[in-house]
Amino acid sequence: MYFLPRLTFSKMRTYKYALALTSQLPFCSTPLRLDAYNKCQFSCAFCFAKARGGNSDAKGVQFASASALRARLNRVQSGDVRNAIDEFLQRRVPLQFGGMNDPFSPWELKYGVGLELLKVLADFKYPTLISTKSVVPAESDYLAVLRSGNFYVRVSFTGASIETSQKLELLVPEWGERRRLIQGLSNAGVAVSIRLQPLVFGDEESLVELLGLLANDGAKHVSAEYLKWPIESSSKEFGRLNSLLPGMLDKYFELGAKKIGREYVLPPEVKLPNLVELKHRVDELGMVFGFAETELLHLNPYQSCCNAADRFLEDCNPFEGTFTSIIKEGGEEEIRLPQPLKKWLPQYSVFSHLNSRSRPAQTGDTPAERYQKMLRDKWNSKDWRGGPLSYWGIESSSSSDKNGNQVYLRAPELRQLLEKNNLNA
Ligand code: SF4
Repeated sequence: MYFLPRLTFSKMRTYKYALALTSQLPFCSTPLRLDAYNKCQFSCAFCFAKARGGNSDAKGVQFASASALRARLNRVQSGDVRNAIDEFLQRRVPLQFGGMNDPFSPWELKYGVGLELLKVLADFKYPTLISTKSVVPAESDYLAVLRSGNFYVRVSFTGASIETSQKLELLVPEWGERRRLIQGLSNAGVAVSIRLQPLVFGDEESLVELLGLLANDGAKHVSAEYLKWPIESSSKEFGRLNSLLPGMLDKYFELGAKKIGREYVLPPEVKLPNLVELKHRVDELGMVFGFAETELLHLNPYQSCCNAADRFLEDCNPFEGTFTSIIKEGGEEEIRLPQPLKKWLPQYSVFSHLNSRSRPAQTGDTPAERYQKMLRDKWNSKDWRGGPLSYWGIESSSSSDKNGNQVYLRAPELRQLLEKNNLNA
């Protein structure tokens, strides 16, 4: 491949928040993300990163610094740990490379920041999940680095018919090219997952053939998550999505979609039968399936939930200070809040990474104690969002434990589903 002359770092603006913890901490086993660039050039119609601003609103592109990452990993390795992110790195919690933006959109050909970051991560054998739609990693210099490190690549596809997919992912390499990437990675011995995100409701059947081809190409794992419809009705991105999927939003309302945060989300009862069907198909093809919907994360038997990173990466420790872990490890029927939570927790504060609704009042407790207090408050909150009731099949009981914490129950339909599909952790 022809690469344009690459710029030196002195001329490039640094992306300050390239390495961060996500606000999904109470739910997610892999909450540490790294992004090579502060934006992405693929312009997928369902991607609202741009409309939602944050750092992607910044003028011009900004770049992660590979030398800063190397210095940080060296410092952490020497035992000099200064904040919660350092602690997650020292613990070797898997890193999601491309957590916010595709790390290899066309800028990569000009700047090569993604490759420099991969080299650093490979030198430390740092457990890393890569999410991409780009075919740049199929190039020989990328493959060589990927082969030498501790990487697991998630290749994303829109879960829809090829026609719909092409409309929604206008600037993304076509399916055939992504298949060649999967074949290249697989031949190089790098584990590959297929990330069906977003799944388009009503288009599930059209994926059957694609999954068969991808299994033959060497994919080992598939995760799926339905489209969440953004609420920003006045944005141009909303108008574009509406015109590409006409009638879909009305369908969402008809099916009982709920507004959660800044999105309309289909109810789990509507999604689950299709996802279970998809899982059976994936099982038959000899791959592993992951439920990526937040309210279904407890259905995944792996420590690392939907991405099963603990199966494909070496020397890694998914984060378990989450409701997902507590629910998965709870009793067959009753689920109690362990007090104290006997899981690794960071000793430095994580609260600047959480949204304001999740931050507890400052008290004299240590940050780890305050994190547990936040979980306890959410556990006992009447609001179904943000606590155990946000998971499908979890119900309140009328009792509390000896510490006064609410006891929850696994509903019979959840127990049946877990048993029938051999999903118990
Ligand atoms: S590739 Fe990912 S980050 Fe880039 S526009 Fe598409 S969905 Fe957004």
